[in-house]
Amino acid sequence: MNKGKKLYEGKAKILYEGPEKGTAIQHFKDDATAFNNQKKTIVEGKGVLNNRISEHILNNLNQIGIKTHLIKRLNMREQLVRLVSIYPVEFIVRNIATGSLTKKLGIPDGTILSKPLIEYSYKNDELGDPLIAREHILEFSWIPQAVHLDMINDYCFRINDFMQGMFRAVGIKLVDFKLEFGTVNINGKTEILLADEISPDTCRLWDVISEKKLDKDRFRKDLGNIIQAYQE
Ligand code: 5GP
Repeated sequence: MNKGKKLYEGKAKILYEGPEKGTAIQHFKDDATAFNNQKKTIVEGKGVLNNRISEHILNNLNQIGIKTHLIKRLNMREQLVRLVSIYPVEFIVRNIATGSLTKKLGIPDGTILSKPLIEYSYKNDELGDPLIAREHILEFSWIPQAVHLDMINDYCFRINDFMQGMFRAVGIKLVDFKLEFGTVNINGKTEILLADEISPDTCRLWDVISEKKLDKDRFRKDLGNIIQAYQE
């Protein structure tokens, strides 16, 4: 499938114009970055794995009624997706306290949360994606309608329930993950779609028994064997 012009290049993906209006081609790179681009490397084969893993998860979510931007995987590194207008908010869902939650609030690492916790960050590299409140999102119209924010919160819980079960079945704990949503306009009606990717780049995944990290923390914390962990 012929790619159109480059629309956007992010840290781990490139978005090209798609073959039809309203579509795009999402290309998964091997670049790994952390700490707001301060740490960088190439992890050979990561893009291929993330393309596959994200395809699998988004297809499964589609089947439980979560609408996503994914149309189909095209090849080893590319997906055909709907071109969405992304809300500038990252939705972080947590089941176990680790990462920035423990650093910011001093909660002991590994604390099991009594129920899933949703956090919001403002998608802004210059500001380092700061943690924000629901009130900021509405006040600054990052998501203009409260009802849409409520719908997305509900999707986050449903996605978490589904993914926890899916990973648990293969011996993996879903610790936390990041989601992005956007909108498309269909016959004058705004529809919310899950966008971006869900992969070990955007989730924390621990082996149920050994608690071995099977995600991007292997890169963030210099634990090695990144590709083996993503394959697992
Ligand atoms: P934390 O806030 O603890 O750093 O991250 C929480 C979860 O969200 C982790 O699974 C992490 O991978 C994911 N996450 C948060 N922000 C980003 C981001 O900007 N990019 C990616 N790829 N993942 C993120």
